[in-house]
Amino acid sequence: MDYFKPEGSRLICLLCAHYCRLKEGQIGRCGVNQNVQGVIKNLVYAHPAALHVDPVEKKPLYHFLPGTRALSLGTIGCNFKCPFCQNWSLSQEKTLRVKETVSPAQIVEAALKYECASIAYTYNEPSIFYPYAKEIALLAHDHGIKNIFVTNGFESSEVIEDMKGVIDALNVDLKSFERDYYKNVLGGSLDVVLENLKQFKEKGFWVEVTTLVIPTCNDSDAELFAIASFIAQALGARTPWHISAFHPDYHELSLPATSVQTLERAQRLGHQAGLKHVYVGNAGLENPTRCVTCNAILIERKRFDVSKNILVGGCCPTCQTKLEGVFDE
Ligand code: SF4
Repeated sequence: MDYFKPEGSRLICLLCAHYCRLKEGQIGRCGVNQNVQGVIKNLVYAHPAALHVDPVEKKPLYHFLPGTRALSLGTIGCNFKCPFCQNWSLSQEKTLRVKETVSPAQIVEAALKYECASIAYTYNEPSIFYPYAKEIALLAHDHGIKNIFVTNGFESSEVIEDMKGVIDALNVDLKSFERDYYKNVLGGSLDVVLENLKQFKEKGFWVEVTTLVIPTCNDSDAELFAIASFIAQALGARTPWHISAFHPDYHELSLPATSVQTLERAQRLGHQAGLKHVYVGNAGLENPTRCVTCNAILIERKRFDVSKNILVGGCCPTCQTKLEGVFDE
């Protein structure tokens, strides 16, 4: 795809749904794409700011190659401005301090060296460094390694179209169900995120959804039920929903951490909305995956480790119901 297109004396960046119109020398809202002499230069290309080997469960993805490792990388910058960002030191950084260059081939070499089944583009919003992610991803596929986007779901329609055959799975944040909150507080658009979630599903990507539950911001019964209902109805009742606990961070230091009671309430609401797989993250709770037909425990986890996986060809060994997701055959 073309990552930008001209409009008069400006260039329109096509990487995310902000579609920044950039004059010569201007940098977009994400802080990492700049109009430089007639092209948009991705300033973080080959400059990861974080690179770790994580369990894929930490992304979180629970129905995608469980028990495997994901080489996880992120850069600086973000196209949102969430005041509660739990990764703000990367996402809200606008100054490129990491001058070391890491080529796509070197990233894939690292993934092979550490026996990673996938590469996750995560920590900050990956659509803003899609040109780098895509080159890595295509090379990774050549080596049988899959690719994961951990994203706020604000991709442009052009990027989503281009991601087909490049990215295999996504964990998409659905941070709220309030239009004003998305627009004024997060700097995005609820409608775009909801539409993109449907597009990801329709186009055949494996999708799991995460909601960071923040006291007083999005933890009412009505809002949590609305989020869960959207997932169940628009994406399917078997779409995994990860409920994640907030801790005070960045500009949101006055709110308390999310209580276990609130997380369990959210889980109940998810089930009431019809979701079959609702997981409570980062709270030390057990998160088994059960068969939707016979209720047998198929996958058990201890924090981010898979302690038991009895799937056979992605199916329940008792009743042969297929578990939705991507599993080793
Ligand atoms: S990635 Fe998004 S925020 Fe950044 S310059 Fe492009 S359109 Fe603007």
